[in-house]
This record gives sequence, structure tokens and C-alpha cells, in this order.
Amino acid sequence: MVGCSLPNQRDGAILAPVPASLAPLLKQYFGYDSFRPLQREIMEMTLAGRDVLAILPTGAGKSLCFQLPALARDGLTLVVSPLIALMKDQVDSLTASGVPATLLNSSIQGAESQRRRTALAQGEYKLLYAAPERVMTEGFIQDLQRWNVNLIAVDEAHCISEWGHDFRPEYRQLAQLREHLPGVPFLALTATATAQVRGDIAQQLHLHQPELFLASFNRPNLSYTILPKHQATRQVYEFIRERPNDSGIVYVQSRNSAENLAAALAAEGIKAVAYHAGLQPAERVANQEAFIRDEARVVCATIAFGMGIDKPDVRFVIHADLPKNLEGYYQETGRAGRDGLPAECVLLFSRGDLVRNLKFLDGMTDPKAAEIAARQMRQMADFAEGSECRRAALLDYFGEQWPGDNCGGCDVCLQPHEAWDATTQAQKFLSCLFRIKQRSGFSTGLKHAVEVLAGASTEKIRNWGHDQLSTYGIGKDTPREAWSSLGRQLIRRGYVVASPDHYQTLSLSSAGLAALMQRLPILLTRVPRQAAVPTSIGKVSRAGTIPCDEGLFAELRTLRKRLADERGVPPYVVFGDLSLRHMARRYPCTDEAFLAIPGVGNQKLTDYGQPFMQAIGTWLAGHERRPFPHDEALPKPAPKMKSEGALNSSALETLRILHTGKTAPEIAALRNLSSGTVAQHLAMAIVSGDLKVEPHDFYSPEEAQLIDQAAAEHGFERLAPLHEALGGQITYDQLHFYRAFRQREQADRPQRPLSP
Ligand code: ADP
Ligand code: MG
Ligand code: ZN
Repeated sequence: MVGCSLPNQRDGAILAPVPASLAPLLKQYFGYDSFRPLQREIMEMTLAGRDVLAILPTGAGKSLCFQLPALARDGLTLVVSPLIALMKDQVDSLTASGVPATLLNSSIQGAESQRRRTALAQGEYKLLYAAPERVMTEGFIQDLQRWNVNLIAVDEAHCISEWGHDFRPEYRQLAQLREHLPGVPFLALTATATAQVRGDIAQQLHLHQPELFLASFNRPNLSYTILPKHQATRQVYEFIRERPNDSGIVYVQSRNSAENLAAALAAEGIKAVAYHAGLQPAERVANQEAFIRDEARVVCATIAFGMGIDKPDVRFVIHADLPKNLEGYYQETGRAGRDGLPAECVLLFSRGDLVRNLKFLDGMTDPKAAEIAARQMRQMADFAEGSECRRAALLDYFGEQWPGDNCGGCDVCLQPHEAWDATTQAQKFLSCLFRIKQRSGFSTGLKHAVEVLAGASTEKIRNWGHDQLSTYGIGKDTPREAWSSLGRQLIRRGYVVASPDHYQTLSLSSAGLAALMQRLPILLTRVPRQAAVPTSIGKVSRAGTIPCDEGLFAELRTLRKRLADERGVPPYVVFGDLSLRHMARRYPCTDEAFLAIPGVGNQKLTDYGQPFMQAIGTWLAGHERRPFPHDEALPKPAPKMKSEGALNSSALETLRILHTGKTAPEIAALRNLSSGTVAQHLAMAIVSGDLKVEPHDFYSPEEAQLIDQAAAEHGFERLAPLHEALGGQITYDQLHFYRAFRQREQADRPQRPLSP
């Protein structure tokens, strides 16, 4: 038996010593040298017998959190998982790594099922995967009681919540296992972070004083790019053509588009399949398998495609149509780059998509739901049209703060928009809106206002007499698209307000009126003339790839595919791209060198060392060995999310302007930043001690009390849960300040000596 055995310790008052064997086991079985963030902490708590709720983004390595502890002691880890396909892939992967694991489900019948049960009774497996409906049958529970279960891992635990996106009623019954297996701790894992879902998991599973682990939702290896959508099919094709060895997902809105796009790509010689809920089950499974087994390089899919895809080497996710909300966009792009290697997320954006999505809502019977959906759609479009760092904007949505100035991995940061003095143009635009309202008594949409500026002769303009306005045609010399873009920026900056219905009629806000009347300076940003084209994105965002001998890499991929087919497993079960890339730069030809490759454990050395080393030897006989410096190209450590002690230059600039007597909204307008960013700068300055202000400048004593109460329960490290717990009564900006004051308080507290 491997490892040492530990007593189960409920309540966890005394932490059992961590088996020193975790790190060696990580290398021995999985071939990795280090843990990813929070993995070790979660394992230690689990081994100490505590109930744990782990919320980590996709690709963070949640599986390892129960797989490795299973190897560190006697007994069986029961893994509850919602999908047969997921279980099968995980069991295949574990088996390939030499970990004794199996699964029981309705597809395993008769003698085979009996054989596995006997082996389980004899303690021959460390992990057992099962679906919840199976687990809850009477005979199965009795079996479990005999099989020495020491941990119940509930994967994709959000399935227990009706608030989550994949509700599975069967998950609800899992709490009953508590009675049947008293003293066995639960480890619940999910990538869904909302406080509502999280509370539901803890409650429904009857978690006992669970230890909560919450990771940053930043995905450092993903790059984000948003391009104007012209001819989606052509753009998608060109992007994929430039990446002949990569596989990826293209999300589209409708079943028809999925099929048409897949057909169009296939006609150009790209192996693409479609996936949507309208396909026959057999075809759906076949297409998914083809993708997972690297037979189809691209899957063109609706959002029906996703959960259950653990394929680690998805190198790109393209959204050819506008997603319906940011949450979905984050989930879908999150399927890229689980292996930690660089991956690209591209969104093709057109305003027309938003209009179409909004129109779609007209059919909805529930006005409240329609309103929420419309708001989310606009938020999505604002994100796409925004001129701020995509990563910062995305994390901001989840209440997380991106501390840096430049993330180095989004189109905005890689190709900064240039600042320009927009005062004159903005004056023309604002005054045009003002005149329209003045003359007609009603407001119009953006398109009409732009036509008036351009001096067009449309039916509406003639009917409404808008060709009589003093602003008619004053913008002739500027392209319509530039006017639209200016209008959108003025909306985002709060000078102009768009009505919440889908006509989106525009009116001046009080700030807009003031700017117009007092001719206040307005500084905006714009994309430089030579807008990004797909090929140029490719070069930039792939900079982080581990350089290797691409010829040998291709050779090794072919070998991997052959060996995987012989064994009936997906190629990544044999080796991930990470391992192959390292092989193709180090050219290992001894067991020792081969074992040093990340992802190579003892079992894989035994099973695959020989064919791979042979292929490398053969390659070297015909090709020159290319030199690669040793450690230079290892994946970069994830950028730190915690704000550092010193202020960055952007925050300092905000502070400087603040001291000249400007207000926060004025600074936002001046610097062309969102009000949230300015608030974050000020919050950082509070933490660093550069800004001395009082909490009650930002929230009332009553509000402070409310936040205190919520923070006692939810902590204040992450703001989204807190925001949600407060039912949206307190703004994110206020919460940023609250956190800043608390952090400052901690920093000011005299350091006490550590108790022994
Ligand atoms: P999640 O369930 O959180 O989405 P997975 O458990 O599927 O993530 O793991 C994603 C990928 O990360 C897998 O390919 C896995 O082998 C890899 N991985 C996990 N832990 C480590 C580690 N400590 N070092 C290197 N790779 C790891
Ligand atoms: Mg997982
Ligand atoms: Zn960025």
C-alpha cells in the first residue's frame, strides 16, 4: 500500500500531520514537481478530516485535490461526478498514470460489474467514480459501508444548486450519505463562484464547518481579443488556417450556424464538426469524441457544448456571435488552455448581434426576466466595445481587482488605444442630441443622431424636420462609424444615457449637459488606424508558448495519437502537449531524463518511455539537435492578484489629480478610466497609506454596520460574494473602499509575536 495512513478527524480541531509523501507522490504518479495554487492547502485539510468547499476556476487542477490524497493513505475515495464521459476520461487518465481507479455506472453490467465490486471489497482500488443516482441505491450504500471509504469528493458540486447552470436533482440526495457513512469527510469542488450557489452547496451537502478555499478567477494563460465582425466565416477560417496544429471551439448562436460553419470549414480542408442540442444523441457523442480524440480539430458549437469537456489542449475559443452574458463568456472561454499553456480567446463583435439578441427578448413572457436578460446583454456589449483591459473588466465583473496597469494578454493592453482630445467632436454630438430633443420633444437612437450629424436625407429626418436643425450635417467630414463610436464612449463615460428599452434612445445626463454648456474638456481614446487583424494577434498572444523543435513535436503528436488509438483512450491521456513540448526541447534519451519531463511519472515511463525515446532517437539521426536554453521558457508564474505595497504609476497619477481638487468622476472622465478603476486606485492608496480619508466619506455608519455583518460571514477578500450577500445595496466601489480600510487596519495593527 502506498503512503501512510491517517485517522479521520472530524471537526478538525487538531490538524493531523501532513504526510510528507504528498510531493513525492505527485512526481511518482503524475510527473509534476510543484502544486498549483491552493492544491496543497486543500489536500492538507482533506487529509485532516475536514469538510472542504473548493472553488477554483476551470483548469486550476481540482481533480488532483482528491486524487493525490487518495494515494496517501489506505482506503477508498468515492468520487461523485455528473457525467459518464467525464468519469471515463478521468479513470482512463488515472489508469495511465498507474493509479488504481475504476467506475461503476449503468454501462458496466454483469460479470464485469461483479469483478469490480470484488476488487473494491478487497481494497484494490484507491478511487471509485460513480454518478449520484447510482450512489444512492440501497445495495450500493451497503457496499460503500464495507469498502472503507475515507473521503467523498463531489465534483462539479454546483450541480446541486437550482441557481447553478447544470442542476441535477440527484445531487440533492447525496447528503443522506452522511448518515450512512458517518465520519467520512466531504470535499465539494466547483468552478462556479456565486455566493448563492456556494451557500446552496454547503447547505445541501450538510457540510460540517467547511473550510472554504476560493481561488482567483484570473486565467493568466488565456489572452482575450475582440475584433470587429465583418465576415464571420472568413475571419474564423483565416484564424484557424494560421494555426494548423491547434484545436479549438467556435461558439455560435444557432444550430444552423453551427452546421453551416462546420461545413464551410470542412470545405476548406479543416477538420471541423458541429455540436448542438438538435443533433441525434449518437451523432452528438460521435462528434464530441472526434474532437476529444484529435480527429476533428475544431468543433462549431452552440452553448450546449461544454460541461464534460476536460480536453486540456483546447488552444482557442472563438465566439463568432455575441454571447448573451459575461458569465457565459467567461465559462466558455474558460474551456481553453486547461493545461496551462497559452491559449487564445477571440470574440467577433458587431453591434447588430446585440440588436438581434435584444429583439429575441420580445418573445419572452416574463417581463422581469426579459429586463435582466437585456441588462446582461448590454453589459456584454459594453465589455466588447470598452477600451479598458479585458482581463480587468472580466475580473471586475466577478468582483475581483486586477492590480496591474497592463495585463499583457488582451488586445487593449497589447495595442493600446491612443488618447485624443475629443472636446470639439463631443460638443457637436451632445449638441445634436440636445437640438433633436428641443425640436421634437422626444429622443432618438444613436443611428438617427449619426444620420443627422452626417447630413443624410432619410425619411425620418425629412418627416421630423431634423434637416432644419443647426447641427444637421455638421459632422459630414467624419465617417459615420467614428460618430457611432464616439457616441458609445460618451454613453460609457456617463455623458449620455441610453434608455433601457431596446430602442435605446439617447438623452443627455446632467454631466453631459454640464459638459455641453460649460464646454468642459473631454478626453477619449480610439483604436489607432491600423486595427488588429487576426494574423497579428496570433504572433503576439502566442509569445508565451514553450519554444521547442516544432518538427519533432509534430512527430511526437503523431506517435501519441497512434498509441492512444491502440489503447482506446484520448491522446491527452497518453501525454499532454506540455509533456511533448518539453520532450521536443530536451530530447531525453535516458530513463532519468525522460522522468524529468513534466507529466511523466513512473507508470508512463514504463509504458511509453521506450517508443517516445526511440522516436526522438530516430529524429536526431536525421535532424540536427536544436539548442534550447534550459529554464528560460518554463510557463511564467501566474501574475499576483494581491495589490502590492507600492502604488503603480496609474494610481499615482489618479492621486496627483485628486490633490489638485478634482472629484473622482472628473478624474475618470479626464483620464478616460471607468469610475470603478478610479475607485480602485483610491482604494489602493488607502491601503498603502498614501491617502488619508475617513470610511464615512464613502459609506454611512449604517451601511458600515451592514457590510461588517456580511463580511463576518463571507470575509472581505473577494467582493462578489459580499456584494451578493448584501443584495446589491452597497456598490462595488463602496466595497472596494471598505476592503481598503480593513486592510489598512490590519497593516496598522502592531505585530504580535506568533503564539507557540
Ligand atoms: P479543473 O477540474 O480544475 O478544471 P483539472 O483537474 O481537469 O482542472 O486539471 C487541469 C489540468 O491541469 C490537467 O491537465 C492536469 O493534469 C493539470 N494539472 C493539475 N495539477 C497540476 C500541477 N500541480 N502541475 C501541473 N499540471 C497540473
Ligand atoms: Mg474538473
Ligand atoms: Zn489587458
